[in-house]
Amino acid sequence: MEQEHYKGLLIIYTGPGKGKTTAALGLGLRAVGNGLKVLMLQFIKGSWPSGEREAAELLPGFSIEAMGLGFTWDTRHTPEEHRQALLGAWERAKQAISSGDHDVVILDELNNAFNIANFPMGDILTPEAVIDFLSGRPPHVHVVITGRNAPQELLDKADLVTEMRDIKHPFHSGRGAVKGIDF
Ligand code: ATP
Ligand code: MG
Repeated sequence: MEQEHYKGLLIIYTGPGKGKTTAALGLGLRAVGNGLKVLMLQFIKGSWPSGEREAAELLPGFSIEAMGLGFTWDTRHTPEEHRQALLGAWERAKQAISSGDHDVVILDELNNAFNIANFPMGDILTPEAVIDFLSGRPPHVHVVITGRNAPQELLDKADLVTEMRDIKHPFHSGRGAVKGIDF
């Protein structure tokens, strides 16, 4: 029973409202303040600058790696290139989690990756594969998964699920992404 206290949690932030990645970053900040080591792997985001990566550089124990190629509607990359990037990100995730070197591993936008991975031909990264892998992870590792449309199988396995509801967002009144708020 007491052991349960030390068992890593599976945490999911999903839903259409803003705040999934920022919630995960806030959790990471808190963890680092408690002496834990945190790694965020960004599955979709590419290497363009972001405030979170700049800030993490200042914090020993907080690492962020952008593994993606950006949005899939950006036609500079082929679907196959996106698929390869996602697979690379998943390989990195598995290696980072099984090493046990990080107490908190955040798989940012992994949920979106499931949908992209299924496009355009066949499953290359499935919720089942992720669940299988996570069930054998080192017990102390907390895993946070973000992104819209979390698959039901993952929700069933998670210890903590929060769904962000979209009540209002400046995007709907025509405002683009805001520096310091959205990136
Ligand atoms: P954030 O990174 O700001 O916490 P998020 O992780 O919840 O947002 P994503 O689904 O990852 O949101 O979308 C990434 C981008 O889309 C962010 O720049 C965010 O501001 C924007 N976004 C999030 N929610 C909405 C929404 N409901 N309407 C329009 N744009 C949104
Ligand atoms: Mg996000």
